[in-house]
Amino acid sequence: MNVIGKVTVLPQLPAGISRLSELAYNLYWSWTPRAQALYADLDAAIWERFQQNPVRTLLEVPHARLQEVAADPAYLARYAQVMADFDAYMGQQDTWAARNAPDMKPVAYFSMEYAFHESLPIYSGGLGVLAGDHCKSASDLGIPFTAVGMLFHQGYFTQLFDRDGWQNEIYEDLDLTTLPLRPALTPNGQEARVSVKIGARTVHVRVWTLQVGRIRVLLLDTNVPENSEDDRKLTARLYGGNQELRVQQYILLGVAGIRALRLLNVPADVYHMNEGHAALMGLERIREYVAAGLDFRTALETAASSTLFTTHTPVAAGNDAFTFDLMDRYIGEWPAQLAASRDELYALARHDQNWDGQLVPAFSMTVFALNLSRAANGVSELHGEVSREMWKFLYEGAEAEEVPIGHVTNGAHNLTFTSQAMRDLLSTVLPADWTGRLEDEAMWQAVEKLTDEQLSTVQREMKRDMIGFVRRRMREQMLRNGASAADVAATDTLLSGDALTIGFARRFATYKRATLLFRDRARLSRIVNDPARPVQFVFAGKAHPADNPGKAFIQEIYRVSQEPEFRGKIVILENYDMNVARQLVQGVDIWLNNPRRPLEASGTSGMKASFNGSPNFSVLDGWWREGFDGTNGWPIGEEREYADLNVQDDADAYSLYEHLEEDIVPRYYGTQGGEGSWAHTVRRAIETASPRFSMQRQVIDYVQKYYRPLAARGTELSANGSARAREIGAWKTWVRQQWPHTSITAQAALPASTQPGQTVPVTAQVGPAGINLDELRVEAVLSRAGHLTRVPLLSQGDGTFRADVPLQESGLYSVGVRMLPVIPGLSNDLEAGLIRWANA
Ligand SMILES: *Cc1c(COP(=O)(O)O)cnc(C)c1O
Repeated sequence: MNVIGKVTVLPQLPAGISRLSELAYNLYWSWTPRAQALYADLDAAIWERFQQNPVRTLLEVPHARLQEVAADPAYLARYAQVMADFDAYMGQQDTWAARNAPDMKPVAYFSMEYAFHESLPIYSGGLGVLAGDHCKSASDLGIPFTAVGMLFHQGYFTQLFDRDGWQNEIYEDLDLTTLPLRPALTPNGQEARVSVKIGARTVHVRVWTLQVGRIRVLLLDTNVPENSEDDRKLTARLYGGNQELRVQQYILLGVAGIRALRLLNVPADVYHMNEGHAALMGLERIREYVAAGLDFRTALETAASSTLFTTHTPVAAGNDAFTFDLMDRYIGEWPAQLAASRDELYALARHDQNWDGQLVPAFSMTVFALNLSRAANGVSELHGEVSREMWKFLYEGAEAEEVPIGHVTNGAHNLTFTSQAMRDLLSTVLPADWTGRLEDEAMWQAVEKLTDEQLSTVQREMKRDMIGFVRRRMREQMLRNGASAADVAATDTLLSGDALTIGFARRFATYKRATLLFRDRARLSRIVNDPARPVQFVFAGKAHPADNPGKAFIQEIYRVSQEPEFRGKIVILENYDMNVARQLVQGVDIWLNNPRRPLEASGTSGMKASFNGSPNFSVLDGWWREGFDGTNGWPIGEEREYADLNVQDDADAYSLYEHLEEDIVPRYYGTQGGEGSWAHTVRRAIETASPRFSMQRQVIDYVQKYYRPLAARGTELSANGSARAREIGAWKTWVRQQWPHTSITAQAALPASTQPGQTVPVTAQVGPAGINLDELRVEAVLSRAGHLTRVPLLSQGDGTFRADVPLQESGLYSVGVRMLPVIPGLSNDLEAGLIRWANA
């Protein structure tokens, strides 16, 4: 039809169930299956059709049906229980934060994408799930926290396969009135609008509020009438456009995001940049201080002092970088606003790129974020190491291990991904308050009390649900693609509830090697078609719309799934989203992940499967390198990297088949009790992964390791009109200017060989070029077996420094002497970025 306008008629809820509407607007329901059931039971078909969206369901369900449930005592009893739990959650005083961090300062968290629930498709994959889960646990822990993101009104895409298994992308405009969003209101009750200049244009931004338990998420939206048609589309799609669009989206997230916080009077003492997308918040924070009268360097030190940057990308090419020309077009006016020169500003982001065989200076979001923060981290231990190696070049003269990038290993929000059946089972052995202390490792040992029988009953039930879901989805897909009646009918017998079922679902980036399993088809066929011990696989995943190699992987899996020997036993599902993820992590027996090490920064889907008693079977990369303990799942390949990717793929595929044939399949179908039993591995998976890889543990780590120290640092540097920041900024400028004129020579009386515990005298002669001697750390650096020890040399007053340096262990030592400028109050010794080594 020709639509001339739209109107939303709001539902009138009967008095007995009137709070269903309030609950629909708090994403508390997204991790509370019993709350979801209240909406699903109004009308199961509507619930499924609209992506399990409570707001939409209330809009669509006929009034008569609402009155019916409002008169149903059983429904009302469940409603009362859910509301009581919700009130208890919202009103909880005795939170983790109240007990452990009562003086904690508020945090503002910026991320390009958030995955809270499938009905709000403003995420693409793991990064979004991580950000959404971070918010949920911040709420659970009771920490003062506000998140900022973007409202993509066409979201990411819906994935449909054509008859040949090729991915097509569908974009649909979201109808915002059917989502749990409300316009953010300013303190005097106005709908919040901020504006930001992008190049020469002024772009207007509407701000939405999303309530996630006790915390708030602010979402930015340029789709307002005040904007030009083009600008209205700036927030249409996530990762949709070219470099030009990306930069503009980064300006919106960073700059408009800070302005939204200010307009709404949201307190923030710590700023967390989740990935380089958020780096441009630094521009606005510096501008604020410059506008208040500070000089550029002081403003920069002040803003950076309270900022944390989390990097997620272990490949250099995955880090966004833009030409200076392009940046000029969009942030050309910023240097003047920051009282800085263009060179000064761009130097903070410079990372030369080899583009088309030429070395080109580029503006790297990651480098900018590193320079505009005073703490940075990767997302697993191995990823921390990889990141230090990758960004070492920014700290000339430093060894990788001293690069100031730490790590906090990722987690997942347990309750979002754990089935109600498993939660009920866990509740029989865990203490009543278990959902409030998920990080408590000792508590989880009670899982040992679950019997084999109890676990297999619940897991069979979860598997049956998942298979039902897969069949329904495949049937829809077949019908849409005009499949034959026989093919449609065959979806009723897809997968068996009795076969060992392995899940593989993730973004189809090529490094994730989705087709590794098919390297030896004949061997795979023997495994799958063993009549006594069959094995089946469920795949799902989206490729980025521009990633044709990723789409080819999808098609290859689809084609394999259509071959007679694999039909009904290997399935690939469309449209991997939060819903499909939950179904799979809850319903499969094992979770498979075989990325090319070390490219999986962390990975989180295997954690979710482990929470549900589906052990992880993965390359020892990311979290699994820390999580695997020999009893709680299986490794693939070895803890090493390969020069030849083909050799690596062969070795890993071989290892994959071996583990399946030699351990996993016999164990699953075996009759051994005790440590040889399947249930033993299941219990170990649940009890080890649930606490250690809970999002709760992750957020607590951020609080202890970063949020609290940064809040203290920010307070110190900004006190008294940023007096300390001014000193540090001025001092850095001065030492950087003098540094080229400094010198150091050193002598060490090293014998050819010596005994452990002996010392050697080391002396250095320093030319300080006017830098205060007590602002120079002169040190001997001992390297032994790949590990550094630093021994300070003491000033003798005349530019000479010396110490007797102990050689504690036997072995081969390399000895160097260097100096670096330090003053108290720096976030780390490399903050000034200056190191001078003495020559041999
Ligand atoms: C958990 C999750 C991911 C991330 O999983 P990885 O293990 O990092 O691949 C991606 N998409 C969805 C929908 C998820 O739930």
